[in-house]
Amino acid sequence: MEKRFRLLIKGIVQGVGFRPFLYRSAKKYNLCGLVKNTSRGVILEVEGSEKSIKEFISYIINDPPPLSLIENYESREIKRQYSKEFEILSSEDDGEGGLLVSPDIAICANCKTELFHPEDRRYRYPFINCTDCGPRVSIIRDLPYDRPRTTMKDFPMCPDCEREYKDPYDRRYHAQPVSCYDCGPTLSFFESSSGKKLTGDPLDIAAQKLNEGFILAVKGLGGYHLACNAVLPEPVARMRELKGRETKPFAMMGTLEMIRRQATVSGEEKKWLSSPASPILLLKRKKNSTIAEPVAPGLKELGFMLPYTPIHLLLLQKIKEPLVMTSANISGEPIIYKDEMGAIRALCDYILSHDREIHIFADDSVARIFDGQLHLTRRSRGFVPFPLKIPVDRKKTVLALGPMLKTTFTFLFNGKAIMSQYIGDTDSPASIEAEKTAIRHFMKLFSLKPDLLVVDKHPGYPNREITADFKGVPVIEIQHHKAHVASLLAERGELGQVIGISMDGTGYGDDGAIWGGEFFVGDYRGINRFGHLKYLFLPSGDRAAKEPWRFALSVLYSLYGAEGKTTEFARRFGRKGELLIEVIRKEAGGIPTSSCGRVFDAAAALLGIGYFNNYEGEMPIKLQAAAEGSRKIEESYNFFIKKEGNFQVLNLLPTFQDLIDDARERADKARIFHNTLAQAFTKMARIIRNEYSINKVGLTGGVFQNVLLLRLTKDLLEKKGFLVLTHRQVPTNDGGVSLGQAFLASTLF
Ligand code: ZN
Ligand code: ZN
Ligand code: FE
Repeated sequence: MEKRFRLLIKGIVQGVGFRPFLYRSAKKYNLCGLVKNTSRGVILEVEGSEKSIKEFISYIINDPPPLSLIENYESREIKRQYSKEFEILSSEDDGEGGLLVSPDIAICANCKTELFHPEDRRYRYPFINCTDCGPRVSIIRDLPYDRPRTTMKDFPMCPDCEREYKDPYDRRYHAQPVSCYDCGPTLSFFESSSGKKLTGDPLDIAAQKLNEGFILAVKGLGGYHLACNAVLPEPVARMRELKGRETKPFAMMGTLEMIRRQATVSGEEKKWLSSPASPILLLKRKKNSTIAEPVAPGLKELGFMLPYTPIHLLLLQKIKEPLVMTSANISGEPIIYKDEMGAIRALCDYILSHDREIHIFADDSVARIFDGQLHLTRRSRGFVPFPLKIPVDRKKTVLALGPMLKTTFTFLFNGKAIMSQYIGDTDSPASIEAEKTAIRHFMKLFSLKPDLLVVDKHPGYPNREITADFKGVPVIEIQHHKAHVASLLAERGELGQVIGISMDGTGYGDDGAIWGGEFFVGDYRGINRFGHLKYLFLPSGDRAAKEPWRFALSVLYSLYGAEGKTTEFARRFGRKGELLIEVIRKEAGGIPTSSCGRVFDAAAALLGIGYFNNYEGEMPIKLQAAAEGSRKIEESYNFFIKKEGNFQVLNLLPTFQDLIDDARERADKARIFHNTLAQAFTKMARIIRNEYSINKVGLTGGVFQNVLLLRLTKDLLEKKGFLVLTHRQVPTNDGGVSLGQAFLASTLF
């Protein structure tokens, strides 16, 4: 029996070779009909024998093209039309939204082969791409995804490209950025000081300048990078000066061979390095690594990515050493992605640029492998705007604006969450503007209008001002660490009750204190505080996070008062130290905190590892590095857990006392300190289990970026029979907070 069926397929189904796939499949199953892109998804009609139609549907749903993602589909029988052909119709804009957009994709194997094949017409063409790879979200201005709505609209296709573009059997069929030497964008090379364009092959000069030790800006997929030779200390040091970035590590780019000389690469790591998302991976540095010291001062991990665009590939072919490849920005501001040369010229000696406009910015993603799984610490290029499935759907469009550091925002709608790219620290007008721009872009791409806005409970976070752009839309506040827990629940699709352990830097608490070492019980319907780290006085407000010695002095004061070890330690800081003792004595200009980040700060300072954080968490990271260099020690220091008022309080002062009295070497003490926290968290989890009979523990918060602590805590909890949830796709740090804000708000309100 001949029949006709109509299907609506939703998900990532545009710009990923989906329509030519349907075309080829329909031919294979002897079906006629049509396919068209709409902003709701792909509409497909097939006509033929009922049996073939059934087999065809099962085939396309179960075996779609590699980059596509089918979220759901509907099918129903409609009237036969006696078609003789299978047609691909042009896109229509029905303004209903609900479509998904693909992230930018690293160059694929087929394009690489062509790129280096001397007979290919795109041999060494820096903008080669196909339906499986190339820029996507960064060049789309509007939907549906069609060339006139991308930044490729200024490059009319030549006859050869047009033929490929229109041929459903070609691997460039409807690849919007398709182009070649005859019709596409071109590279150019500028000198920063004069702004003058230099003649010659831009890639040749770029490679030469990099070898000579100059700093280049290189235009990539989601913005400009600053690049220099990573084995020469001088340019790296100079780049730090230009960027105003003292010690925060730089990421690098190299071929697999280059990376293997500097760091160990496991099978799993290799797989992710060369994945379509192509993130920066944090890899274990080799002892004989030749990377210049200022790239990642004092760290045992190096951040590497593979060349993920043809420009990067061609450039790396001409050089022998890996490159520092860091987002081009002025300290504290978002990545530079527009072609106005003013900002970029101040940061480099030369600029390797091109005329394909970047419509929206995206920094590189950062991840590491833990327990064989990818753990993202920054979810951006290659992953955004991939949706996350959310276990509860309340038919509301929620926009959560995120916290102040490592900000992302999240749109939650129709049972899915779309998290934004990494915006950065939203404490400057430029970064607030960047968040607004990205929000507007998302609203347009996904046809969204928020019904509810969510902000962090902290009354002073600057991105609250964004709510003013949405007059009449209700705004609600979600506590920071509850959002961390909810983010984990959302990511892992967890609907049951969990014990939520949120170890973090800073977050405004329900009681006005600075929270950051919290134990919760709850689920998506409500998360309640069960316990916390003992409140200690946090002097000097925000400065304390930048100057670990301040909280260390507060810890000493709690232990010994204003004498002995306290004054001895304060003396290192001269008059400032004396003054701070006075401040702590009077509890002036500060507030109580349960922050675990500060506990790590204090331990690092008391062990003499360092007294100042040049970047968030620097001393805690060095403390971890010290512990990783120690022998395997099982023992731990003392701590107490005691009920105070409504909460169980974990008191780590005895831990600090033991640490100070311990005469062993620093690395061992750092290790024992880590063991102690793992023990203490597990003890608290057992207390909660006894009371609530909950056996599932979620670990979240920025402190769990410390993989040694994560390892020790997870192992110990599992040994005690707990089921442990950790973040994977969504950062455990503040980059994940907006997801939790959105999830909790959508279910509570
Ligand atoms: Zn390709
Ligand atoms: Zn062409
Ligand atoms: Fe946080």
